[in-house]
Amino acid sequence: MSDNASNNLQDLQYFGEYGGVNPSISDSSTYTFVSAKTMIDTFEGNTEGCYLYSRHSSPSNLHLGEALAAIEGTETANVTASGMGAITAVILQLCDTDDHIVSSRTIYGGTYAFMKNFLKKFRIGTTFLDITDIQAVENAITPKTKMIYCESVSNPLLEVANIKALSQLAKKHSIPLVVDNTFSPLTIAPAKLGADIVIHSLTKFINGTSDCVAGVICGTTEFCLALKDVNSGAGMLLGSTLDSLRASSILKNMRTLHLRIQKHSENALFLAKKFEEDGLRVVYPGLESHSGHEILKEQMNIQFGFGGLLTIDAGSLENANALMEMMQAQKLGYLAVSLGFYKTLFSAPGTSTSSEIPMEEQIIMGLGDGLIRFSIGLDNDIQRTYEMMKSCMTKLEIL
Ligand SMILES: *Cc1c(COP(=O)(O)O)cnc(C)c1O
Repeated sequence: MSDNASNNLQDLQYFGEYGGVNPSISDSSTYTFVSAKTMIDTFEGNTEGCYLYSRHSSPSNLHLGEALAAIEGTETANVTASGMGAITAVILQLCDTDDHIVSSRTIYGGTYAFMKNFLKKFRIGTTFLDITDIQAVENAITPKTKMIYCESVSNPLLEVANIKALSQLAKKHSIPLVVDNTFSPLTIAPAKLGADIVIHSLTKFINGTSDCVAGVICGTTEFCLALKDVNSGAGMLLGSTLDSLRASSILKNMRTLHLRIQKHSENALFLAKKFEEDGLRVVYPGLESHSGHEILKEQMNIQFGFGGLLTIDAGSLENANALMEMMQAQKLGYLAVSLGFYKTLFSAPGTSTSSEIPMEEQIIMGLGDGLIRFSIGLDNDIQRTYEMMKSCMTKLEIL
């Protein structure tokens, strides 16, 4: 597969107001009109290139959206103030009261909680299932189903969705396939595989410095404009608007995304192989032992590798906690949720990011309480990191 995604991003060249090499930051919430007539047209949404109010759109947010659409290969993209801001706007745009969603059961805890608990207010029901079981997905679709929802590589168990097969199914039933691609930017381009809407939490790899929260919805011009509609757009009316200053800093960080993803993947593959050889239970989609390995290879852009996330099973929650505390004390990374940072981050998903999922369901999903999720950092000397991690595991008799 040729790397259109990062070429498209590289080819975006902006000039700032004074000829700067970065686009100027739009430092305004509201915009002036020379004629009153243009203001009326802009309110009705039919004046190209005019800005009205920054909750609707701003130059900085449009630039960032353009860059994200370039890597995902969609017509356009709307940025939001968080990943959840993107997810909730898409769902509420597509679903009415009494509608239905078919979703993977291994999804981000916040998305799971939103579907399972919050959407009750609108009597929108969700069938959660094993997204790798295409027949089960088809069986769950009803006349009320308004979308199939999944993550390309799922959180935290790193299940790989067969996006091509799911998109064929979605097309057959005339419903959109919505894919959260937070774990695999550049590696997987869901829209090119047939997904209709691609979402990211920019908070993670795309920004990469764990200094802000942001999100994006990539899709058709028609859908993205509908989200911004002043009378009925979920994006516009729910108000999850990204600040322009932040949009501009994320856009700058994105310029190194290809290098960072390659390094995250290289380091994660190195550690996954070593830990597996040492006899640890490791889940990493780059390992042949991973159930989604072949599907991922078919769908991915190989030069970006298998991603920066892996999990190990420390046997028990006590072991997991002791190991994480020891690794943090040795400066191997932080005991923190989130991912995509330049330093390694680790957390026990069962008690943190997936705690919204009831314990019985966690067990069915294979989310044991000794599970540690690692987001592997950009360490230059990964052999040294491995040796230090291994010595922590040996001390605690996990290895
Ligand atoms: C973090 C995350 C989200 C939520 O994003 P926020 O920016 O924290 O709102 C959604 N999906 C996935 C897969 C995530 O990792």
